[in-house]
Amino acid sequence: MELKSRPRRRDFITISSGESFSPFHYSVGRFGSQFLTELRDHKRFMGMRCAGCGRVYVPPRPVCGPCFKKMDDWVEVGPNGTLIAFTILRFAFIDPETGQKKPVPYGYGFIRLDGADTQLQHFLPVGAKPPKIGMKVRPVFEEIRHGNLRDIRHFEEIA
Ligand SMILES: [Zn+2]
Repeated sequence: MELKSRPRRRDFITISSGESFSPFHYSVGRFGSQFLTELRDHKRFMGMRCAGCGRVYVPPRPVCGPCFKKMDDWVEVGPNGTLIAFTILRFAFIDPETGQKKPVPYGYGFIRLDGADTQLQHFLPVGAKPPKIGMKVRPVFEEIRHGNLRDIRHFEEIA
C-alpha cells in the first residue's frame, strides 16, 4: 500500500497506557546510604577519595572510574561550592519524584562542592538576580529531612 498524501496530525494514532500507578523503592547502596544519612542527620556532605588518583567523588561511589580501584576513604567536603553549569526551566512539567508540577521558573545546576572533583546536581532559586557560572553557592536544608537529596531545598548564592 502506498500513501498518496502525508497523514494529517489528527490522523495519528495515539494509545493511552491507562491509569498506571507503579510506586517502587530501590536501595541506594552502602555508599549512597551513608551519604544520605550524613546529609539528613548532620547536614554534612561526605565524599569518597581515590587512593590512586586522589579524586574525590560526591556523591560517593565504590570504584574510581579512571583507576578502577575500590575506594574506602571518606572525606568531608563543602558545604559550599561553585556553580559549574546551569539551566533555567520555564516550562512546568510533572516532577516524577513528587507527581506535582514544580512552580517555574527555577534553576537546575551542576555544583562542585569545595574539596570535590565531581559535581552534584540540584535546584537553584531564580529571583531578580539570575544565577551565573562560577558563583559561590551554599546549600539550604529543609527543616525536616528524610534521607534523600530533597533534604536540600536548593543551593543559593553566597552574598
Ligand atoms: Zn582514581
